[in-house]
Amino acid sequence: MSLLIRNGTVITAADLYQGDVYVENDTVTAIGTNLPMEADRVIDATDRYVIPGGIDCHTHLDMPFGGTTSADDFESGTVAAAFGGTTSIVDFAIQYRGQTLHQAWETWMKKADGKAAIDYGFHMIMTEVNDSIEQEMDALVRQGVTSFKLFMAYPGVFMLDDASIFRAMLRTGTNGGTICMHAENGGVIDVLVQKALAEGKTAPKYHALTRPARAEGEATHRAIALAEMADVPVYIVHLSAAEALEMVTEARDRGLLAFAETCPQYLFLSYDNYEEPGFAGAKYVMSPPLRSRETQDQLWRGLAFNDLQAISTDHCPFCMKEQKVLGEHDFSKIPNGAPGIETRMSLVYDGGVRPGRISLNRWVELTSTSPAKIFGMFPRKGTIAPGSDADIVVFNPAKTQTLGVKTLHMKVDYNPYEGREVHGVSETVISRGRIVIENGTFTGRTGAGAFIKRHART
Ligand SMILES: [Zn+2]
Repeated sequence: MSLLIRNGTVITAADLYQGDVYVENDTVTAIGTNLPMEADRVIDATDRYVIPGGIDCHTHLDMPFGGTTSADDFESGTVAAAFGGTTSIVDFAIQYRGQTLHQAWETWMKKADGKAAIDYGFHMIMTEVNDSIEQEMDALVRQGVTSFKLFMAYPGVFMLDDASIFRAMLRTGTNGGTICMHAENGGVIDVLVQKALAEGKTAPKYHALTRPARAEGEATHRAIALAEMADVPVYIVHLSAAEALEMVTEARDRGLLAFAETCPQYLFLSYDNYEEPGFAGAKYVMSPPLRSRETQDQLWRGLAFNDLQAISTDHCPFCMKEQKVLGEHDFSKIPNGAPGIETRMSLVYDGGVRPGRISLNRWVELTSTSPAKIFGMFPRKGTIAPGSDADIVVFNPAKTQTLGVKTLHMKVDYNPYEGREVHGVSETVISRGRIVIENGTFTGRTGAGAFIKRHART
């Protein structure tokens, strides 16, 4: 099977040129102008951008949380991702206390197997650190699960103490793994939550008001300091607060390997959304919470100047009906998370590239190349080059779409951007040489996605 994408504007993190891309089976084998090859399928990409498929390195499909499970499984979630121009995800396997890391990995591999329509990898969430788990970390890195997520929040559920965090960090210094950190001070937040509830403050907005930006700034600072003492890199997930960005920027200025991602919700939504009438604020209950409007400009500046290296979604949808409603009388019982896997590429193009906040190259870098590099998938993923996987999006920058439950494919009964019109549509989406989206239709196959065996830091 061969595929020729003709006459598009090919954009990678480094280049932008008019050209043709030739794909044989699942691999890009030639790039050039007026390529002479014949192909089984020719796609005319005139006036379109030809970009590497998006990589979303923070998703939660089929994830149990607070007595319910995120609404998208690996089938609906990866199909929605493909519609939005994302061809690889890195999801999270969860090790619950008493389980081995391999039991957790096996559980999540089963969730994805036969269902995923695009390629997928896993970070490993660890809820305890001991001698045998440290040995398992080494084995997992060799097996392609090269990143470990630790929590400084959710005491009694996910939270680790500093000693455990430090031990895990030291281990990645020798095994080449990467630590991802949920950086919020869970102890402080828990006290504030209990206090608010005792005062009868139960509405959704108190979720945000009990998670101060400084709690994120403090934990981010501590995570970076622990990593500095362990002499390893650290990657801060879903950075939302200017107070946290400041810590990352300061660390990077000192030459430390501190990395961070932010998410579209922190760039396009704000605390004001929690003030929507009735229980509507629950749509935006996620951790960390949405911040002030002014924060958005600071995050965009961080993205432009490379103090933030990636944009992922933290896709973790819960329906308003039956799920978010669990917290109708107590904001602390609202399942944390929101949908976003399908809207990332277009939102960041529309709100980032079009107003001139970031360049086309930077858009590709933040949504694909940089996640591939940080998480051991580059150059197989994250670029268009001879030898790389044929994960390609033909993106029409002129076409508009209206975001909303009716137009999108995520299995959730609301959308945080309902009614928002954006420029830029992922028209044709190719996953390892297979056309999975064409003419607004899913043409791929669930189960065709493969596990991405990632490589360790070198
Ligand atoms: Zn998350």
